[in-house]
Amino acid sequence: MKKTLKDFDFKNRRVLVRLDLNVPLNDKCEVADATRIEASIPTVEYILNRGGSVVLMSHLGRPKAYDEKLSLKPVAEKMSELMKKDIKFVPSKKVVDEEVIKAGEALKAGEVMMIENTRFREEEEKNVPEFSKDLARLGEIFVNDAFGTCHRAHSSNVGVASLLPSAIGLLVEKEVKFFQEALREPDRPFTVIMGGSKVSGKISIIENLLPKVDNLVIGGGMAFTFLKSKGVEVGKSLLEEDKIDFAKSCLDKADELGIGIYLPIDLVVADSIDSTDTKTVDYDEIPANMMGLDIGNKTIELFSDVIRGSKTVIWNGPMGVFEKDQFAEGTKKVGEAVADAPLSVVGGGDSAAAAEKFGLEGRMTHVSTGGGASLELLEGKDLPGIKAIEEM
Ligand code: AMP
Repeated sequence: MKKTLKDFDFKNRRVLVRLDLNVPLNDKCEVADATRIEASIPTVEYILNRGGSVVLMSHLGRPKAYDEKLSLKPVAEKMSELMKKDIKFVPSKKVVDEEVIKAGEALKAGEVMMIENTRFREEEEKNVPEFSKDLARLGEIFVNDAFGTCHRAHSSNVGVASLLPSAIGLLVEKEVKFFQEALREPDRPFTVIMGGSKVSGKISIIENLLPKVDNLVIGGGMAFTFLKSKGVEVGKSLLEEDKIDFAKSCLDKADELGIGIYLPIDLVVADSIDSTDTKTVDYDEIPANMMGLDIGNKTIELFSDVIRGSKTVIWNGPMGVFEKDQFAEGTKKVGEAVADAPLSVVGGGDSAAAAEKFGLEGRMTHVSTGGGASLELLEGKDLPGIKAIEEM
């Protein structure tokens, strides 16, 4: 178990907090969506309310060196507005210099400052110790609450954690708790729903989860490689020829382990992704010149029954091209069934976007905020940003 905020007395301590403030900016360099800032506030307030002071850091975008357009200044202003509290922004092209360190030392209990975009230093992404040491001079305790970068070993999450007493913040704690709860000792039946475009990006997840689940539901573009491995003709649907053998071996293994594998039994097909001229056909009647772009009603019913009979559900990947209304129904209905499960965890960027699009976010137990990081948790990997934090 990693140390959390509850394991520290923050009174009169200066706390260096890594947040994920990588928000979209508009062309006037204003914050276009403050969701990540809002989500970060509870950890900051937790420390302030217990008598600590806070030095905030984050990356923003992908600069290779100083870039005025990717300054965190507008982010500090937005956060200040949302918290109704002064956040002192201390700019430096070098991110940390003597002025920044002095500003940190001058912080009093209850005060907050923010430093510049950590990626202005090229050492950041290489986890160079000199930069980690500079950062560590800004606090007495380090808190990592940036889940979205936990699968990367950078100076501002991994390097600095080895130099200070450390804890995970409230957001990271929540991510770890729900994934662990779902993956370690799930209430059964435990069902995983996989979708999205490709098998290739999800092989490690399938390999990790297959021995753990009771049911594996496969929809989206990746289902066609599985159907093809059973000898079904899939027309112009997405197909990864080089993954057919992998798909076949998964189906064989599932059989061996007694796992229920559910593939589409009917599909919404069209000439192309842009076509609105659609029809629904059985899985073994896909016309040679058409492609499957959503699951059909019979499949929705089948998948929903399996999901509604489950106690723990992990959902990763849409059931069809949900961005287009004519191919969105399968993802919406499956999402609704997932939302009814006692424990529902949504991992991966596209399923999170789908949950949001269909207004299901609030009904899920947990929607992960970190695309890449949540995929690596599902692959069973240790995330370096979490591993680096002290054990209890
Ligand atoms: P991924 O990044 O692999 O999770 O894939 C997500 C994307 O898969 C979404 O943008 C969907 O539009 C797309 N997708 C889902 N089902 C299909 C399908 N049957 N054919 C083509 N693309 C699909």
